[in-house]
Amino acid sequence: MDNERIATVTPASTPRPASEQEPLDGFSRQGTDAFDIPLEGISRRRFLTLTGASIALASATSSCSKVDRGTIVPYTRKPRDVTPGIANHYASTFQEGLTAYGVLVRTREGRPIHIEGNDEHPHFRGKTSLRAIADILRLYDPDRLRQPIVEGKPAAWADAEAKVATALKAAKDAGKPVILLTTAVLSPTRKALIEDMKRALPGLVHVAYEPLAPEAERLAAAAAFGEALSPRLRFDRADVLLSLQHDFLGGDGDAPLAIQGFAARRRVRGPKDRMSRLWVAEGAMTLTGANADERFAVRPSRIAALAFALARTLSRKHGVALPSGLGPDALAGFDLDALAAELRVPAARLHALVRDLAQAGRTALVLAGPTLPAEAHVAAHLLNVMLAAEGHTVETAFAPAAVDVCTLGELRAHLADMKSGRFRAAILWGVNPAHCCADAGLWAAAAAGVPLKACIGLHQDETARDCEVVLAEHHWLEAWGDYEPATDLLSLQQPTIGPLYDTKQGEDVLLAAVRALGGTVPADYHDYLQARWQREVYPTGSLVPFEYFWNAALHDGVLSRPAGPRPLRTLRVAAIREASRKAAAPTTDGFELVLHSGSAVYDGRYGNNGWLQELPDPVTKATWSNPVLLSAADAARLNLSTGDVVKLGAGERGVEVPVLVQPGQAGGVLSAALGYGRSALSVARDVGVNLYPLLDPASSAPRLRLGTTLTPTGKHSPLALTQGHHSMEGRDIVRSLSLAAYAEQRAGGRQEHELPTLYSEQRFPEHKWGMAIDLSACVGCSGCIIACQSENNIPVVGPEQVLKGREMHWIRVDRYYEGDQQAPNVVHQPMLCQQCDNAPCENVCPVNATTHSPDGLNQMAYNRCVGTRYCANNCPYKVRRFNFFDFTSTKTEPELLVYNPEVTVRPRGVMEKCTFCIQTIQDVRQRAKVEARAIRDGEITPACAAACPAEAIVFGDLKDPESAVSKLSANARGYHVLAELGVRPAVTYLAKLTNPTSSGEKRDS
Ligand code: SF4
Repeated sequence: MDNERIATVTPASTPRPASEQEPLDGFSRQGTDAFDIPLEGISRRRFLTLTGASIALASATSSCSKVDRGTIVPYTRKPRDVTPGIANHYASTFQEGLTAYGVLVRTREGRPIHIEGNDEHPHFRGKTSLRAIADILRLYDPDRLRQPIVEGKPAAWADAEAKVATALKAAKDAGKPVILLTTAVLSPTRKALIEDMKRALPGLVHVAYEPLAPEAERLAAAAAFGEALSPRLRFDRADVLLSLQHDFLGGDGDAPLAIQGFAARRRVRGPKDRMSRLWVAEGAMTLTGANADERFAVRPSRIAALAFALARTLSRKHGVALPSGLGPDALAGFDLDALAAELRVPAARLHALVRDLAQAGRTALVLAGPTLPAEAHVAAHLLNVMLAAEGHTVETAFAPAAVDVCTLGELRAHLADMKSGRFRAAILWGVNPAHCCADAGLWAAAAAGVPLKACIGLHQDETARDCEVVLAEHHWLEAWGDYEPATDLLSLQQPTIGPLYDTKQGEDVLLAAVRALGGTVPADYHDYLQARWQREVYPTGSLVPFEYFWNAALHDGVLSRPAGPRPLRTLRVAAIREASRKAAAPTTDGFELVLHSGSAVYDGRYGNNGWLQELPDPVTKATWSNPVLLSAADAARLNLSTGDVVKLGAGERGVEVPVLVQPGQAGGVLSAALGYGRSALSVARDVGVNLYPLLDPASSAPRLRLGTTLTPTGKHSPLALTQGHHSMEGRDIVRSLSLAAYAEQRAGGRQEHELPTLYSEQRFPEHKWGMAIDLSACVGCSGCIIACQSENNIPVVGPEQVLKGREMHWIRVDRYYEGDQQAPNVVHQPMLCQQCDNAPCENVCPVNATTHSPDGLNQMAYNRCVGTRYCANNCPYKVRRFNFFDFTSTKTEPELLVYNPEVTVRPRGVMEKCTFCIQTIQDVRQRAKVEARAIRDGEITPACAAACPAEAIVFGDLKDPESAVSKLSANARGYHVLAELGVRPAVTYLAKLTNPTSSGEKRDS
């Protein structure tokens, strides 16, 4: 966090004098019908009340679950932390699955409008998940529950909680168990609360389930080391990476962390810079595979065998010692040359991989993906231990224990217990088994077997529909919490707005239950959390009062604390023998189906988020759907084309889904995203196909389904793709060269000559804003698209409009294939308005709606635009977007509360496009002016650059020769896209560098 930003942050916990809250409460007591709050909507007055109240609530040390009854009046007494027009920033934490991301929430007049990473977080260092950025939309989701529901009818909290309490007391008195089914519990204080609840209700069975949790990884770590940890993977230390179907740059694991570390080793600046090499062995084409220097398309079921063969060759040919107790013949069944022949991979390239790993030693990093079986993970551990990467690139010193979540098989056993009538009551918190359980029939029977089911959640989703009591939950931006990302680090979550509706945070519901069962607990979760921190986190004997300590932790959002490092883990030889025995087993017939996480909707929990539904998949560019990918060879054999519908069969289940022919997909391998095909909620419903029924409950890797059948149905369903042509047709739109070729060319400097122009020279008296995009760092993750959408109020248009090419994203990430369909080179290129000096859009606008600014921006005057679209036609980069329909003005609260008040919302018939976040430029310019100083280099960061985990985008003043953007723009790799047109773009791309082995020079283009 820079100093400027710190200056705008006020610790949200600063106690507020009660007198400052009185006007709101006092007004509410005089409430009239005019100020009544409709349940189905939210009035502007109500919203302003809430935002005003939120400042008080977020700042007060009293409960944040308190529902404010006030109504709005103008600021007769302005909240202390609110200056109209000036944003506040609050540090908080966002949990997704097994990861807790540190975030910074920007609020305007008490209303959260944008999310970024928290610079203070030592792991994520200012970057965060694109879903964390997008989740602000869920705060204002009109489908959110507004109050509790009992037996299908809106109810008061007292009635809903009484019903739950009665059921829990009855269970306690009868000695019957109660099941509490939650998502992964990463919060130490939430864990403590659940333990309190167990004490109050001894029959409580707590089960955590995450549909996308890497089950096999946890099982393998426990078997291999005797303990399952969540190590910190140091991509920044890795010279050689081997991904075994692990999409660490995409949907598997902590992508922002992985991209940050990976990109740091791909940004070659000087002649002495080294670059990492990424090897990938995978069946399904992933984003990580798309970024590989060397890639093998192989069946996932043979990847474990391949990894053991690599280990054996490392030992035999390169003298890398096997763990003690493992004799030289322990892996005798794994011959690399035989496997190369079986997998149709050149043996020489596999031997080059082994050589590379041996040379890298402790700077190698081997990763097995969450869809692979346990034996592949054990093999990866073996390689990391042999190479001494364990402890270096696999950093376990401060690793927390792996999060305790049950497997699909265990979940099914619990559901069977529910079905049998074992439980008197069930509390389901944040989980949606009715959608993501592999067997919908089992869920229905389980639900029928429990007399009372209470669901805590944001929505009336598939599971809530089956529950007698639905307890409306706060969004995380309205709630308190804490997380423990490492044994030496804690992070805090704090409300950034008061509750919009009559909701409670889930922990407060549990506290009410504990109280009803006779337990003694603090009045609310804020107090519970603070009391636990005072007891267990606040250093004993500290000279700083607890209040200051707490406020400082809230301000930063993270707290480092002393912890002893763990000793290195020791690999158990028995686990290797067992895994190698399983890996040697032959595979079955049929297709192998890889079920991965939805590129944007994750396990389905973000399905109601239009931004995420419309975010193009980084590889396929599909929106609003989850087609099944298959190879071109398989498609030709089965006479299938993209959009044809097939029936996938696995076990007794069959699902119809459209196909997408995917270059680079291994023959015999299918892949598709989970999380689609929801049957509830207005946006999520009927988008894509629910593929959870195809999970394999009998396997330790349920997301790898062997023996899947595929039958064409003769139907066709067009896919809403944002890119229809995938080749550069021999042009150098994306320049790409190998590291070796770059080293040769570097001495020659930048290879571009100025073209003569008929235009008069543009003059920029003060600044000339420009951008440099390093294609070598960019991995194509699309985080920039979501950040831009959030910052600039970009509408969602829906699949029908995407099919017509009318999506509205101001920045898109183009993806091109080159070379062989089976083993293509893949390149990504963020494409946005190039802010051309000789902008071809400007001189065709009949009404001068698009003109050039004195600081080099190609700007749009929306209220002049009459929608002729000449500018879009004349733009060679096709980055202008036209509002064919009224996507925005029909929106009502709460949806429109997400809008950034600094950016105009565009109506129908108006052209729009990127302006380098002109509102941020103006904001910084104003601040610099007030402080009578120059704008500092790096002070202006457009939303795309701020979000980019790869730090591929650099913005600044091209008139300043010392600015980072000027230096990058002069780099020998720099070039302008379509420079031959002479439009003089302000965006310079740095050619992509790859680092293949000498045998992989074919990747050069
Ligand atoms: S530029 Fe965009 S697509 Fe590329 S790495 Fe950054 S955020 Fe991801």
